[in-house]
Amino acid sequence: MLINQNTILLDTHKALRTKCEPVILPLSEEDRSILESMISYVRDSHDEEKRKTQGLRAAVGIAAPQIGITKQMIAISIEGGKGEKDLEYALVNPKIISNSVQLAYLEGGESCLSVVPDREGYVPRYARITVKGYDLLTDREVTLRLRHYPAIVFQHEIDHLSGTLYYDHIDKQNPYKPLPEDAVCLG
Ligand SMILES: [Zn+2]
Repeated sequence: MLINQNTILLDTHKALRTKCEPVILPLSEEDRSILESMISYVRDSHDEEKRKTQGLRAAVGIAAPQIGITKQMIAISIEGGKGEKDLEYALVNPKIISNSVQLAYLEGGESCLSVVPDREGYVPRYARITVKGYDLLTDREVTLRLRHYPAIVFQHEIDHLSGTLYYDHIDKQNPYKPLPEDAVCLG
């Protein structure tokens, strides 16, 4: 399946507001191949040359409804720092099973392949979450404890599976309304 800037749906499409169906396990060949295309997109989008030649927009994650498939599948690839490996998961039926009370947010706000242009404002997220799901890359059930930036990315992608977009969380009256004092601000 070809995924690029032209095939990714925008938030005006109803798939982006649909509650996605759970995926039946074991994975069918078709679902496996869709999810493989999704993780390839995110990986390839980190490469400047591929962005130019294949028309990709840089991303750290993508959810199936963004390509018109209303099934519970997300792919995430966050580049590691020097000497650190990338954080990569291609998850089926991901669920947040616990979260911190403490919040976290990105100072510059969030962005989304399906939202053009970006919407400004703080998006409150949980600072720490535990996610359960089936990971295609290792072919097993995983339980992930995530904090700060990765936790925000997973919450953004998992939100897509219930038809929620990041700007739904931005305060309408005051987009930069201060968060609680103990919230983690990530630059
Ligand atoms: Zn998004």
